[in-house]
Amino acid sequence: MKFPTILTWMSLMMFVVLLLSGGPALSAPPAPDSGRAFFGNEYDPKTCQMNATSTDEPYEGVPKPEPKHDHFTYVQPWSGYCPEATLKDRKKAACMTCQTANIKGSELYDGIEVQGNKWALLACDEARAGVEAGGGPFGAVIIQVDDESGKVIRYWRNRNHVVEWTDPTAHAEIAVMRATCKEIGVMNLGRIDKNDPHLKLPQTGKTSHCEMYTSTEPCPMCYTAMRRCGINTLVFASTRFDAGVQGIDLPLDANYNELQTSYRDRAAKYGMHVYQATVPNSLDAYNLYKRSEVTKY
Ligand SMILES: [Zn+2]
Repeated sequence: MKFPTILTWMSLMMFVVLLLSGGPALSAPPAPDSGRAFFGNEYDPKTCQMNATSTDEPYEGVPKPEPKHDHFTYVQPWSGYCPEATLKDRKKAACMTCQTANIKGSELYDGIEVQGNKWALLACDEARAGVEAGGGPFGAVIIQVDDESGKVIRYWRNRNHVVEWTDPTAHAEIAVMRATCKEIGVMNLGRIDKNDPHLKLPQTGKTSHCEMYTSTEPCPMCYTAMRRCGINTLVFASTRFDAGVQGIDLPLDANYNELQTSYRDRAAKYGMHVYQATVPNSLDAYNLYKRSEVTKY
């Protein structure tokens, strides 16, 4: 990651000014209901839907690039959703002002900023529904696109289940990928062949593929899992820095930085102690795997 420029820091300060003036902490306009329209079917936000929702609609593709904005005058569109602060600690509640724009205090996102679409809105709406159901603030949507017709055949949406399932790996992206792979019957979502004998769901075109929309920039675990199941298009909304603000406190940025640090230095910097053991059977499983008729993936 490049070191932030002075201009970027100035824009960050502008953001902070906007953030602080972004609305009262303890009183709020009513929640907009725009996201509900995108669910496309009967939907109870308290209940997570694990199965695909069939659709047959044109896919406009990844949203168009966001126009260049002037750092000092641009105000990001905001839903106006600022729920009542119900924390029992009233002092703490007073500190939890509603955030009105994404934090992009670095050049990390230069060149990838695009406009929104219904799938990005749906992922964010699923995140809010997840919180309403007592879970973490993350949502994810996978769309399956037919490569011949260009239509979205079906989609899956899911949310963070870490608390609900007592599973620290049950992030929204992992949950939606598991549900998608299991229901389609394949492990590679990047190219789904109509003639694959494992295919459980119909498709008209010879091939289809899946794309991922998430409410937040994925953590390294989820990003890697996406790559392992062949997904090669990702659109996320809020940033790793949004996930790190007071009250959310999730260390996504630290997670990414840790991966760029040598193993040797991770103990001192992050408290992670990693060692490489020298044992005579370390390659046994590899040798058996590559020399056997086991299913390769
Ligand atoms: Zn994750």
